[in-house]
Amino acid sequence: REKLLEVKNLKKYFNVGHKEVLKAVDDVSFTIYKGETLGLVGESGCGKSTTGRTIIDLYGATGGQVLYSGKEVHGVKEKSKKKELTRKMQMIFQDPYASLNPRMTVKDIIAEGIDIHGLAKNSKERQARVFELLETVGLNRDHASRYPHEFSGGQRQRIGIARALAVDPDFIIADEPISALDVSIQAQVVNLLQNLQKERGLTYLFIAHDLSMVKHISDRVGVMYLGNMVELSESDELYDEPLHPYTQALLSAIPVPDPNVERSRERIILEGDVPSPIDPPSGCRFRTRCPMAMDVCAQVTPKWQEAKEGHWVACHLHDDEYKHG
Ligand code: SF4
Ligand code: MG
Repeated sequence: REKLLEVKNLKKYFNVGHKEVLKAVDDVSFTIYKGETLGLVGESGCGKSTTGRTIIDLYGATGGQVLYSGKEVHGVKEKSKKKELTRKMQMIFQDPYASLNPRMTVKDIIAEGIDIHGLAKNSKERQARVFELLETVGLNRDHASRYPHEFSGGQRQRIGIARALAVDPDFIIADEPISALDVSIQAQVVNLLQNLQKERGLTYLFIAHDLSMVKHISDRVGVMYLGNMVELSESDELYDEPLHPYTQALLSAIPVPDPNVERSRERIILEGDVPSPIDPPSGCRFRTRCPMAMDVCAQVTPKWQEAKEGHWVACHLHDDEYKHG
């Protein structure tokens, strides 16, 4: 498998209030392979969106490195190189309405990137590209001169997808792209994204708040908790053999579709709330809610390591040094 992106010890801290630092993303490392869909899940505030935005340099990183095809993304000073990188990495947002300028026509919204990157020789070519993109996402050329408010949520998300595709990207971060849509529309948008991936060889980072949503569309899934990545593996393996107590709890909450099938997992109810990322617990950040917590968990931060081939976890239960308590 070819690596497209390598995220190494990525950190994003925000200064909040007087001398307080919110550690939104803290020492996160993973690889994204070319052509795959990597699902990224966790409760709101766990840092998944910030991870996505920091990767593509929408937010300057506080620390760590991101390599795109082996080349450093952050700190690229040369304008033309920077522009090329921002073209290759696009984003689709949760709320397509908020991310579409209400005063611009659909045509101008979609063509913005085409203009910035000089991808059309003249206005005729620009228009032809917009028409083609509209058709690609299941809309039509009559939609080009309309405004965002004239569309349904699902259609607006299609416009957002067309805008992302306009610059011919390789990598797309989809930040909860279907969470705001009606259930009946969600599958249509997911199908569209999957077809586009097949046709164009796209690589996705698909961010979602629940595991059931990403299960079918992700090749691999990463789970975040309070600014840390706690587990990452092939999708099937994560669902069948979760190693981290947090992943186990999340999975236990997914309803079993067939009521005649006996629940294979006992429901694990987590006590308490997610602590503040401004003053996270020492050692393992999950320890205040972990049913398996040991003494060492308060003192030592668990290492992010490959417990089995391709299956990463940060938990002392899977660390040779501490696994026996
Ligand atoms: Fe639970 Fe300790 Fe593992 Fe953290 S390191 S998940 S507290 S057992
Ligand atoms: Mg978010």
